[in-house]
Amino acid sequence: MTRLPRSLELRASRLAIALLTALVPMGALAQDAPAPNDNLNAVLWDQTSVEAQAGFVGAFALARIRLDEALADTARTAAPKEQTGDFEDLPPAVVLDVDDTLLNTSRYQAWALKADKSFSAETWTQYVKAKVDTAIPGAVDFTQYAASKGVKVFYVTNRTKEEEAPTVELMTALGFAGGGNVDTFLSAKEQPDWTSAKSTRRFFIAKDYRILMLVGDNLGDFTDSYKGTLTERQAAFDEAAPHWGRDWIAIANPTYGSFESSPYKGDYKLPAAEQRRMKIDALEAWSGPSAP
Ligand SMILES: [Mg+2]
Repeated sequence: MTRLPRSLELRASRLAIALLTALVPMGALAQDAPAPNDNLNAVLWDQTSVEAQAGFVGAFALARIRLDEALADTARTAAPKEQTGDFEDLPPAVVLDVDDTLLNTSRYQAWALKADKSFSAETWTQYVKAKVDTAIPGAVDFTQYAASKGVKVFYVTNRTKEEEAPTVELMTALGFAGGGNVDTFLSAKEQPDWTSAKSTRRFFIAKDYRILMLVGDNLGDFTDSYKGTLTERQAAFDEAAPHWGRDWIAIANPTYGSFESSPYKGDYKLPAAEQRRMKIDALEAWSGPSAP
């Protein structure tokens, strides 16, 4: 074996020591480093940011103004497809989604993130029964304001019948407006045609009430055309242009929803890496800086 000159040997050993010193903390760091998770920033924003709270308060403040306008104009309905026949003299109602419109479910998303789990109906039901959601800022006051104006507040949620009792208990404790002698909590599958697409429940409400406003965090809280491609969803949004900010009030939710599944066509069985690739492919990007 050829020996290196003494000076080179010294340099090589110093280099080896320097490398080892650099690698040990890196190794220790790698062991302690949390696994990357695509939902981290969204859940962090949703649960901890004052910017999120400010946006929620603003959305419900706008909803209150729009509610007064809609009350004063009996020719208006927020559900033109479902509100057929004469509705001017019907009593007024608002239709609100629950999850991440009125209740902040970020503790479930945070659990999933920390435990490296994805959504499942079983864990979700257990979560609902734990009753740990908080009220979205502005939401309780909005429902109370609507009720004080004689507006019936309907909760149209895809929580199931089994999840209804703990949800109603929690929402009552948080101060959301109740329905009096009317069942205003319409959960999924409560009737055979009450699927996760919500228009059948809006039809049901519209038979007896003039719907003044829809509030939700998902396109599906406003229209059944929410499951398509990004282009189809854009068309559904554009078609409803007169409603947004008027009688359709959207609550920001970056943590989950049909926006997230659209790029991979709602194929939840695809490996996470493939879903991620399709989401990245859906993004328009700048071409980057020009070469120096
Ligand atoms: Mg929701």
